[in-house]
Parts: sequence; C-alpha cells; structure tokens
Amino acid sequence: MSDEETSPGVESRIPAPDLTCPKCDHLLPNGLGIITCEMCNVDVKVEHEGTRKKWREEKISCPSCSKVLIAGVDKRPANLQCSSCSEHFVLKPNRPKAEIICPSCNRKLRMNKRPGVREIDCPACDVQFKVSF
Ligand SMILES: [Zn+2]
Ligand SMILES: [Zn+2]
Ligand SMILES: [Zn+2]
Repeated sequence: MSDEETSPGVESRIPAPDLTCPKCDHLLPNGLGIITCEMCNVDVKVEHEGTRKKWREEKISCPSCSKVLIAGVDKRPANLQCSSCSEHFVLKPNRPKAEIICPSCNRKLRMNKRPGVREIDCPACDVQFKVSF
C-alpha cells in the first residue's frame, strides 16, 4: 500500500475520463495533466475541461467537522483547509473501481482499477484468475 492510500483525507468522487495508452493500449492511471503510463513509461497529456469544472465545483465534507465545502480547485490531489474548523486535509484523487465477474462462479467482485495485470482470488470459490486493464 502506498502513502496515498493510507494518509488521512477525503477521496474525490469524480474520476477523470478512462483512457488507454496510445502506445501500449493499457489503462492509464486516472488523472489529468501529464500522465505517465505505468506499463511503458510514455508520457501522455490528458486534458478534459468538463472534469476540471466538476472538480472545482465538487462538494466534499470536512473529515473533521463534516461541514460541506466546495473544493474550488481543479486538481487532485489538493491541499484544502476547512473554512469552519480550519483543519487541513488532502482531497485525494478518485480511485476508479472495476466490476469483475469470476469466470468460475460468476460472482461479481469489485476492485480498484489499476493499470496492468492483476491476480484475483475469488473469495467465493477460491479460483485464481487474472484480469488486465
Ligand atoms: Zn503505455
Ligand atoms: Zn472542518
Ligand atoms: Zn468465484
């Protein structure tokens, strides 16, 4: 687990568009700006004005006092300060989820969508299988 996943903060509910790498066709890490493909290391420029706008207008609740705040910034992660209790916290990027169907028992599994090949152990039938994004 990376620091990003364990540090305190609020996860944005708005993901950037899902894009695949123009060079190797794997899923790119979710985000805007210069995104580096984790599979082939190529830099891809990703811009999406609609997402930037939604990010600026996103409502989030302060992890400390629960007051609803407007993000007001068009990047993720962003450091925010609550206008009510002055608590500093990080507004973290959305981590897109994927729904996978186990090929053995057809159970639906939800997981974080990450570029590359993942090995899955189905919790229902113990079958191991691979998915790639
Ligand atoms: Zn690539
Ligand atoms: Zn607060
Ligand atoms: Zn299964």
